[in-house]
Amino acid sequence: MQLLDGKALAKKMEENISLESKAFKQKTGRIPGLAVILVGHDPASQAYVGMKKKACDRAGFYSVSHEMPEDISQEAIINTIEMMNHNPNIDGILIQLPLPSHIDTTKILEVVSPSKDVDGFHPYNVGRLATGLHGFVPCTPLGVMELLSEYNIDPKGKNCCIVGASNIVGKPMAALLLNANATVEICHIFTDDLKKHTLAADIVLVGAGVVNLIKEDMIREGTIVVDIGINKTSDGRLVGDVDFDAVAPKTSYITPVPGGVGPMTITMLLSNTLKAAQNHAKELV
Ligand code: NAD
Repeated sequence: MQLLDGKALAKKMEENISLESKAFKQKTGRIPGLAVILVGHDPASQAYVGMKKKACDRAGFYSVSHEMPEDISQEAIINTIEMMNHNPNIDGILIQLPLPSHIDTTKILEVVSPSKDVDGFHPYNVGRLATGLHGFVPCTPLGVMELLSEYNIDPKGKNCCIVGASNIVGKPMAALLLNANATVEICHIFTDDLKKHTLAADIVLVGAGVVNLIKEDMIREGTIVVDIGINKTSDGRLVGDVDFDAVAPKTSYITPVPGGVGPMTITMLLSNTLKAAQNHAKELV
């Protein structure tokens, strides 16, 4: 069994992004900029926004966060996004999810300019990913693809079982793997006999948000397991969706939690923001 070390890869990639950011500044006289919109006071969301800001600082990016009260109107959020769409210092706009229930999340995501959609959630970029065209790809599944590639794991022809079918994890993960010529199955809460599907897979990728969902008897010897889940236990520990201690010895590769997919997500946000800045600079030439 070998660990897929996302922490180490994220560090290596961040160093390159930092160098590219310096080169970008020398060439254009400006630095990549990210705007984050945070609504409400959810501690987990606040922590994620803080981590993204720190990552921007490390990479030499400009970053600004717009923190809004829980009861803010949809119109006020839209106005802020439109301001960011027109701000030439901002290359990427990130809406920290989840938004409060009185806000129409789909509508909000559609207001973000597709050229600044560094989370890859705008239907324009979702459609481009689905058709195998270049565009912005959601950071978490993009980070998984980078991690597989770092360990020379080629999904081509492999049976991949994705557990979790959300718009931000499971569905884009499926599109990326399909584009990489894998055979893809997507399981979700209504899937009958999950074990039947995971046992048939060469690569199992889990992002369901359920502690210990994947147990030892659900995995064949030699399977590659990518744990995308992040869950906090009652004693404050971070764990994934896989019963790591029992499952890991059976795998050929497995991601730890923490230190697997999580750090890659933040790095891919930097990578997407740099790409947006480079695209915007080209548009000005
Ligand atoms: P979500 O709630 O939007 O979606 C969960 C998906 O899992 C759904 O499709 C649901 O049908 C499926 N599911 C739930 N219970 C299941 C079960 N018992 N069996 C099979 N399928 C089941 O969640 P999300 O936003 O996609 O996040 C999923 C997990 O990934 C969470 O733990 C979240 O914290 C984590 N996550 C991690 C990162 C990262 O950077 N590593 C990024 C985003 C989300």
